[in-house]
Amino acid sequence: MASVFDLIVIGAGPGGYIAAIRAAQLGLKVACVDAWRNAQGGPAPGGTCTNVGCIPSKALLQSSEHFEQAGHAFAAHGIGLNGLSIDVPTMQQRKAQVVKQNNEGILYLFKKNKVTFFHGMASFKGGDADAGWQVGVSGGEAEQALVARQIIIATGSVPRSLPGLDFDEQRVLSNDGALAIGGVPKTLGVIGAGVIGLEMGSVWRRLGAQVTLLEAMPDFLAAADAQVAKEALKQFTKQGLAIHLGARITATKVLKNGVSVDWTDAKGEAQTLKVDRLIVSVGRKPNTEHLGAEAVGLKLDERGFIEVDGDCRTNLPGIWAVGDVVRGPMLAHKAEEEGVAVAERLAGQKPHVDFNTVPWVIYTAPEIAWVGQTEQQLKASGRAYKAGNFPFMANGRARALGDTTGFVKMLADAQTDEILGVHIIGPMASELIAEAAVAMEFKASSEDIARICHAHPTLSESLKEAALSVAGRTLNL
Ligand code: FAD
Ligand code: NAD
Repeated sequence: MASVFDLIVIGAGPGGYIAAIRAAQLGLKVACVDAWRNAQGGPAPGGTCTNVGCIPSKALLQSSEHFEQAGHAFAAHGIGLNGLSIDVPTMQQRKAQVVKQNNEGILYLFKKNKVTFFHGMASFKGGDADAGWQVGVSGGEAEQALVARQIIIATGSVPRSLPGLDFDEQRVLSNDGALAIGGVPKTLGVIGAGVIGLEMGSVWRRLGAQVTLLEAMPDFLAAADAQVAKEALKQFTKQGLAIHLGARITATKVLKNGVSVDWTDAKGEAQTLKVDRLIVSVGRKPNTEHLGAEAVGLKLDERGFIEVDGDCRTNLPGIWAVGDVVRGPMLAHKAEEEGVAVAERLAGQKPHVDFNTVPWVIYTAPEIAWVGQTEQQLKASGRAYKAGNFPFMANGRARALGDTTGFVKMLADAQTDEILGVHIIGPMASELIAEAAVAMEFKASSEDIARICHAHPTLSESLKEAALSVAGRTLNL
C-alpha cells in the first residue's frame, strides 16, 4: 500500500530540502527522499552542498587561511609564533563535525516543519498527474512506495571525469577526494582552474603543497569581469599557484605513487606534469542516473539536464525540477530560490526568480564576488554604461585589517544610472556583495548607494566610494 502525499521532493540538497520546508509551511503534506549516506551508513541530508561542497570546502578554506595568516601575517601585528604546524587529521575532524551539524540541522528542520523524510534512492515507477506519480524508495531501512500528484526533482549534480581517467579518490580526486586528503601532498596537480580548482588548490597550497593548475581556456576565469580576473591571476600567481592557461591534456597515467599528465602548453610545446595527487575539476554533470526518468517519459536535454521552462516545469504535468539538475548556474542559493518558487507556485502564489541578481562568490583569498553584468558583457551588448572603481588600498578598515588587495567596481547605465553590475575582489567580498544584490533588486542607481550613510570604518565604504566614482566624485581617493 503506497503512502500518499501532496508533494514528494526527490533530493535533500539545498534545492530539495528548502522546497520541502517551504511547501510544508504552506500547508502541503510533504515527503522528502534523499540517498546520501554518512560514514556510518546513516542519512546525511544536505546534498553535495553540505556533504562534499559549499560547507566542507569553506571549513577547510577557513582552517588553511588561519594557518596562512599565522605563518605570514601575524608577525606584522607583533605576534610571534614558534613551531607552527598543521595537524591535517584534526582539521579534517573539525570539517566532519561542521558537516554533521548541518546534516542534523536539516533533520531537525524536517521534524519541526512536519516533512516526512525517507532515506534511500527514489525512482519513478509509473503513474500520471491524475492518479498520482508513483515513486519507489530503495536502499534504506525498508522499501517504500510513495505516491503524489506533485513531484519536485532536486537530484543535483556529480563530478565530471576526464575520458580514460576514473576517480579513485586516492590519486585521482574529484571534489570528494580533494576535501578528504589526509596529509599535505608534496605536489598537487589540478585540471581545470575554475571555482573548485581555485578553492581546493588554495587550501592545499596554503598548507604547503606545490600546486599546478592546467586550464584549457586561454582566458582566466572567463565568467568574471576581465579586470577582476586579471587581478585574481596576478594575486594567485604571486601566492605561488602555478596556473597554465590554454593547456591541452594529451595523456594521463596513474602511477604507483601519483599521476603523470602529458599536456601541450599555449605555445604548442609538449610538457609533462608528475604529481602526488591530481584533482580533476572540469565541471559537473546533472544527476539523473537512478531516477527512472524513462518509466514516466521525463524529458532530458542533449547534455542530460532535465528540461524545464522558466518556472521549473518539466514536460510532465505536476513534475518540476530545480537546482543543479536543470539549466542555469550550479549554485546552492540558485537551487534554493528555485525550490522556494516552485513550492509557492504549488500553493497558488506567483513568485519570480531573477537570474540576473544571483550573486557569484569564489572563496579564495582575495575573495571574488559579483552580481549582474560584467564590463565585457555590457560592451558586447552595446549598452552605454559608466564605470566606478575604488581600491581597498584607500579604505581605512582594509588598512587596519592588513588586507588591502583588490577593488570594488560598479557599472551603471549611462543614461538612467541604474546599477547593472558590481564586481569585487578583496577582503570579505562574499559579504559585501549582498548590498549590491539588494540594490539591484530594488533597481537602485549608483547615486542611491553614493548617498546612503555607510558606517565608518568598514569595508562597505568601498562600495559607496565605487558608487561615488561612477560620477567622478570619490572622497577618499
Ligand atoms: P545537490 O546538493 O547535489 O543535492 C542532490 C541530492 O539528491 C543529493 O543528496 C543526492 O544524494 C540526492 N539524490 C540524487 N538522486 C537521488 C535519487 N534518485 N533518490 C534520492 N536522492 C537522490 N555553491 C555555492 O553556491 N556556494 C559554494 O560555496 C559552493 N561550493 C561548492 C564546492 C564544491 C567542492 C562543490 C562540488 C560544489 C559547490 N557549490 C557551491 C555548488 C553547490 O554545492 C550546488 O550548486 C548545490 O549543492 C546544488 O543543490 P541541489 O539541491 O540542486 O543538488
Ligand atoms: P567550473 O566550470 O567552475 O570550472 C571548470 C574549469 O575546467 C573551466 O575553467 C574549464 O575551462 C576547465 N576545463 C574543462 N575541461 C578541461 C580540460 N579537459 N582540461 C583543462 N581544463 C578544462 O567547474 P568546477 O570548478 O568543476 O565546479 C563545478 C560547479 O560547482 C561550478 O559550476 C560551480 O558553480 C560550482 N561551485 C561553486 C562554488 C562557489 O560558488 N564558490 C565553489 C565550487 C563549485
